[in-house]
Amino acid sequence: MPELPEVETSRRGIEPYLVGNKIQYSIVRNNKLRWSVATEIVHIANESVISVKRRAKYLLIQLQHGWIIIHLGMSGSIRILTKQQLAEKHDHIDLILADGKILRYTDPRRFGAWLWTNDLANCSVLSHLGPEPLSIDFNADYLYQRAKNKKTAIKPWLMDNKVVVGVGNIYANEALFAAKILPARAAYSLTKKEISNLVIQIKQVLQRSIEQGGTTLKDFLQSDGKPGYFSQQLFVYGKKDQSCTHCGQLIESIKLGQRSTFFCHSCQK
Ligand SMILES: [Zn+2]
Repeated sequence: MPELPEVETSRRGIEPYLVGNKIQYSIVRNNKLRWSVATEIVHIANESVISVKRRAKYLLIQLQHGWIIIHLGMSGSIRILTKQQLAEKHDHIDLILADGKILRYTDPRRFGAWLWTNDLANCSVLSHLGPEPLSIDFNADYLYQRAKNKKTAIKPWLMDNKVVVGVGNIYANEALFAAKILPARAAYSLTKKEISNLVIQIKQVLQRSIEQGGTTLKDFLQSDGKPGYFSQQLFVYGKKDQSCTHCGQLIESIKLGQRSTFFCHSCQK
């Protein structure tokens, strides 16, 4: 599933081809995604692209007359084609650009979304979201205040978009390992020092992943290649019964909030 770093990499990948360009029209081959593709997108004509931003895992394409909001869902990806190519089965949407390039959206499982808004500030899919993890609004004071009285286990709590956006399962597992905190600990039981370290580790694990993503940017021009969802160095995620790289103990796995959770009982307290 595309996580925040992949979405940010997608944003950086398409931004140079879109900003200052015009979307002449769209080709929507299948409008049955998670929700129907917005009619404004189906009928788009000669819209200048002003900016390409990201909020949580949503890509935001700012046009003269509104915003396209894209969510990649479980299996969505976008890439830039330099010339028209036969669309394959899962290539659901093309945006045809004025310079002849094409932004193509591919989504085998069709859980993605292409929405439209004229009023980003009051857009319902974005309005309830917590702070961006890499922004200064996500800091130790903020998280400590929010964690008070929260009896929920820290890991599922961190994955709640109302607390902070974009901390997916892999990153929650890895950040808690790096911060030496057991995933099942109640959120309120973390000390200020632990929270402070956790905030740093969350930012680092996401930042590292975005930096690794930078090396895959060329894939946005590879017509046949799948846009890169990059592998990163993982210490606990998916490592059940493998030796912990720090202490040699076997990594354990449990389900927390129905999500696979990995940890080292010796390194994490
Ligand atoms: Zn260990």
